Amino acid sequence: MPLETLTGSCLCGSVKFEVKPPLSDFRYCHCRRCQKASGSAHAANIFVPQSQLKWLTGETLITRFDLPDAKRFAVWFCSRCGTRVPHKVRGRDDYLVPAGVLDQDPAMRPQNSIFWDSKAPWYVEPREIPKFSEYS
Ligand SMILES: [Zn+2]
Ligand SMILES: [Zn+2]
Repeated sequence: MPLETLTGSCLCGSVKFEVKPPLSDFRYCHCRRCQKASGSAHAANIFVPQSQLKWLTGETLITRFDLPDAKRFAVWFCSRCGTRVPHKVRGRDDYLVPAGVLDQDPAMRPQNSIFWDSKAPWYVEPREIPKFSEYS
């Protein structure tokens, strides 16, 4: 069954885009750069060919940061609310889509965790800690 087109948006709703499946890859990245850029233990990165992503609104509000000296690492974000949005991967025909900004379930699930050896020392597997539906 062909998957529906997915949409994504930033926290303030200024930047919107759509993604046409199939998605190429979905992985958690535990590298130090992703920890910094996400402010979290790891990034959740989806990759799609450039031709499958279309900006709907707010493209001019996107601030682009290419990490100096990095081959590919970049962060694009909404200049109003700071939410990370997809960025074109330098030197590749791909967009990296931060999974958390998608508005629907992408159906695909993460395939692997990369840069596992540089994971945050405070990272624990979610299954190891209690879960609550809201603030506990
Ligand atoms: Zn925004
Ligand atoms: Zn990374």
